[in-house]
Amino acid sequence: MRHLLIATSLTLALSTAWAQTANGFGSCLSELRAPARAAGVSEASFARHTQGLAPDMSVIEKLDNQPEFRTPIWDYMAGLVDDERVEQGRALLAQHRDTLAQVEARYGVDPATVVAVWGVESNFGQSFGSYPLVQALGTLSCFGRRQSYFRGEFFATLRILQAGHIAPERLVGSWAGAFGHTQFMPSTFERLAVDFDGDGKRDLMDSTADALASTANFLQKAGWQTGQTWGFEVKLPAGFSTSGEGRRSKRPMGEWAAKGLKRVDGSPLPTQGSAGLMALAGPSGPAFLVTRNFDAVYSYNAAESYGLAIAHLSDRLRGGAPFATPWPTDDPGLSRAERREIQSLLLLRGHDIGTVDGMLGDKSRAAIRAEQSRLGVEATGRAGQKLLKALRG
Ligand code: CA
Repeated sequence: MRHLLIATSLTLALSTAWAQTANGFGSCLSELRAPARAAGVSEASFARHTQGLAPDMSVIEKLDNQPEFRTPIWDYMAGLVDDERVEQGRALLAQHRDTLAQVEARYGVDPATVVAVWGVESNFGQSFGSYPLVQALGTLSCFGRRQSYFRGEFFATLRILQAGHIAPERLVGSWAGAFGHTQFMPSTFERLAVDFDGDGKRDLMDSTADALASTANFLQKAGWQTGQTWGFEVKLPAGFSTSGEGRRSKRPMGEWAAKGLKRVDGSPLPTQGSAGLMALAGPSGPAFLVTRNFDAVYSYNAAESYGLAIAHLSDRLRGGAPFATPWPTDDPGLSRAERREIQSLLLLRGHDIGTVDGMLGDKSRAAIRAEQSRLGVEATGRAGQKLLKALRG
């Protein structure tokens, strides 16, 4: 009885807090009416899409929670560029050959690069995120940090709906508002999405042609140079220092050649162009000379590891080999198939890890830590080849 009373008063307190949040959201939305109209959202559109809208406070938790787990680059790359994604990407290159040829003719970006972006951004249209965009961006416009930034994206979302490019119920995405095959933010959509299938709508949710062309348009506007490489892996001379070098410190190829850098197959560097030296895991890991085209890919998400995943996937789609230099670790990362295998093995051992989806979330990490303790190794919550081998045995 006592427990019941406590539970009841807790529920009451929670529902009061929720009512306050909902009221605060309602008055915030009322205050956004005028600025929305000034930003080109009609009264009718605003009312239609915000009527009865409840906040989703889980997006504020996402905004505030820095991931506690820092993914090593070899894990990141092993999951993003695995045999499964290469195979699927090659099949899609063939399936969409005509569209991709037209996209290349119009924007000057080759099919493998466009399909690699698609594969990394949304797993070729299979992972869009499931947050209704109006609700997520409405909440981020009214609570938490960066409200003015998110208000801009919220108004852009309402303008996209107002223009009828995408049906409201189809407009779902990441908690932060990136959506569709290309995971564009709404303001990026407005600047760069194109209608390539000619139906009058720029539809990044349900039109593959629009999505592929919009990706190519993004890269073209970001400075993509037609017919040029993003870069390539290089072999550094023994003892070479990479300190002070980076993507942005570009030097003529001749200068790199004079320093003794070679391509990993031993062939000499190109004689034209300039590039920066990027070694994301230091001089003992894979090193790359990267050109302006890498910068165009980088601008898609402003992360070098992310850019490298796209660049490398594009090479693999063209038939290129995995990196010649191993990452500097004795415990390499897992492909998505291997992550699913680890999850199945954890299930077999009685851990509640949710569904086997190849994504190692909080539940999987807790189970991994438990198994690591049992095995007498450091309980990091990270799974690599070593743990996979131990669990198989
Ligand atoms: Ca269209």
